[in-house]
Amino acid sequence: MKRKEISKPRKLQISVPSNEVPFEEFLTASGILMTGDLLVNKDGVRVVSQNNEKQTSLINAPDNQLLLSDIEAIKVIGKGSGGTVQLVKHKWTGQFFALKVIQMRIEDRERKQIARELKINQSSQCPYAVVCYQIFYDNGVISIVMEYMDGGSLADFLRKVKSIPEQYLAAICKQVLKGLVYLHHEKHIIHRDLKPSNILINHGGDVKITDFGVSVVGTSTYGHQGTFIGTKSYMSPERINGSIYGSKSDIWSLGLVCLQLAQGQFPYPPFDSFFELLDTVVNEPAPQASPEMFSPEFCSFISACLQKNPSDRSSAQVLLEHPFLGKYDDLSINLASYFSSLGRPLATF
Ligand code: ATP
Ligand code: MG
Repeated sequence: MKRKEISKPRKLQISVPSNEVPFEEFLTASGILMTGDLLVNKDGVRVVSQNNEKQTSLINAPDNQLLLSDIEAIKVIGKGSGGTVQLVKHKWTGQFFALKVIQMRIEDRERKQIARELKINQSSQCPYAVVCYQIFYDNGVISIVMEYMDGGSLADFLRKVKSIPEQYLAAICKQVLKGLVYLHHEKHIIHRDLKPSNILINHGGDVKITDFGVSVVGTSTYGHQGTFIGTKSYMSPERINGSIYGSKSDIWSLGLVCLQLAQGQFPYPPFDSFFELLDTVVNEPAPQASPEMFSPEFCSFISACLQKNPSDRSSAQVLLEHPFLGKYDDLSINLASYFSSLGRPLATF
């Protein structure tokens, strides 16, 4: 089945909700998302002390508060299953950001988790994770102001270059793994939706993971009505068959991503239905890198990621020490010039 139709880009101007609807635990229809001491509404994210909205302290100092009304849209830079991503400019400072707008039509039971994950997203500080500056919630629409990555995603880049040679892949993978070490071992969170479109690049050669806090809003396998979307899935066997899963689930996804980047195509044939996906990923042997096409180090790296049993899979920390990552160190690979020379024109507005 084709992807769900994408909602139209929204204007940045927001309207103030008129009717206060009784508070549930986490979200009111009038535009407030709340969990514990965290409140997300049209003015951004705030820490609320003593359950009293009047005694609030802004996460960002009031002077630095980023308001939706202070940013102007430049152009749409991407569309996903959940919404649109725009390049925007802060009117007063001239700074560029990416603004992700997500239409949130979700079940009540999911709201608590979304609020929690948005909190994680905003508190993350790591050079290998895309910075999330501010989150707004207004009448079913979540707007996330993020760091703008002018090279787009690895999915965009792969469309240009067809495949990525091992020496560049090792340098890219090192940064992704550092991002995963941060998420798994420091923040104790699972990404859940690691895939080429959630790994972003820029003209400085930086590679950063994104959407680790919002994957719950729109997963890659199901649309909001539970319909099967997309013919690819990076989900681990244990996740697909409904077992308990942990951070090793992201390592499976990383293995599929790396193999796809190296081969230039997704390692499984397209899935037409959830049954086909389940049957193939759960029952068939895991994909492997061909020893005729790739180095023994790369094949061993892929095999360390694509183990069907999560306990046989290496952790992000262990993988950072894998010989594949150090194999091309002597070449002093320059990702900045690789991304700039082969990808889409960078930093052009
Ligand atoms: P899905 O919705 O299925 O998860 P997706 O990850 O491509 O797919 P989005 O997260 O909405 O969907 O992103 C859409 C596109 O927008 C990305 O593929 C990327 O090209 C671009 N994009 C997203 N975030 C940024 C950003 N911070 N800077 C620059 N481009 C971005
Ligand atoms: Mg994404």
